[in-house]
Amino acid sequence: MIYTVTLNPTIDRLLFLEGTLTKGKNNRLEKIAYDIGGKGHHGSYAMNQQKVKNQALGFCGTTNENKLEKILADKDIQHDFVEVYGKATRESYVILEAEVGGSILITEKGFRVTDYDSELLYEKIESKVQKDDIVLIAGSLPPGFELNDLEDLLNRLKKIGCFIACDLSGEALKKAVEIGVNFIKPNRFEIQELIPSEANFLDRLRELSKKIDYVIVSLGKDGSICSHAGELLQVSTPIVGLVNDTGAGDCFVGTFLASFSLKKPLKECLSLASACAADHIQYSDSTTFSIKAARKLQKKVTIQTLT
Ligand code: ATP
Ligand code: MG
Ligand code: MG
Repeated sequence: MIYTVTLNPTIDRLLFLEGTLTKGKNNRLEKIAYDIGGKGHHGSYAMNQQKVKNQALGFCGTTNENKLEKILADKDIQHDFVEVYGKATRESYVILEAEVGGSILITEKGFRVTDYDSELLYEKIESKVQKDDIVLIAGSLPPGFELNDLEDLLNRLKKIGCFIACDLSGEALKKAVEIGVNFIKPNRFEIQELIPSEANFLDRLRELSKKIDYVIVSLGKDGSICSHAGELLQVSTPIVGLVNDTGAGDCFVGTFLASFSLKKPLKECLSLASACAADHIQYSDSTTFSIKAARKLQKKVTIQTLT
């Protein structure tokens, strides 16, 4: 079983502009769509595409719970959240300009969680997670959930002995590395928190995997590098037309962990993850991809051992 934990969930409001975003002009919308924005939820969606059983955990606000429930139901994402009464799950604005690739993201901070809310989450997690399970903790920490709370959560998971994957950034990523988790996937900016630019990057990456079993640095259109058991694998990514790359990393992580849970060989986990993420960036929302199309793209992914 895989559990995904989204501590600071969000509902994405996709704003499709008629033209390009211009100051001083009335920027008209072509249409609006909604999507889930939580990184763990994106991971769950990706796991579903390989039909790997998973459940999304975390917090959710009650005042707009119906909205989140509807999006999760549309995407068939099984979940069991700690409800935080009288609070609203934050919304993020994803601005998509006509005929321009990429997106502009504007996010709210999210509601404040209390120690009581965190305690309820720990109880839920400890009542569900078993030694053989995989737990993915993804996304930012909400106000009120501090680094020491993350440390508490990670230590409880370590006590259970499950496989811990973290898609975190900044100080939270540093904390996960300090405590020692099994998997991290920093992108090209997030890795700078762990490896300073003046250092010998590949040596440091090798060193990092002595502590963290799987370190995958994702490099956008330049693919990714996986450091595991003293070996470095450079993974290419298929060339596709970029529409919106938000969620590419989440798709990569969800797909990788699903394949990993199915005990697929590492290179297959990596090539499918790369292909699914590449397929995903051709869609305008932050979750969608086609596993069928990705399996075709997978044939184009190359994996080289770096020496
Ligand atoms: P997220 O928005 O989910 O946090 P991220 O910044 O963590 O994304 P990226 O490094 O941008 O993650 O992308 C993850 C993977 O997606 C890459 O390693 C690559 O395989 C694929 N990918 C991203 N951008 C492109 C692109 N422009 N073309 C092809 N593949 C891409
Ligand atoms: Mg990126
Ligand atoms: Mg990311």
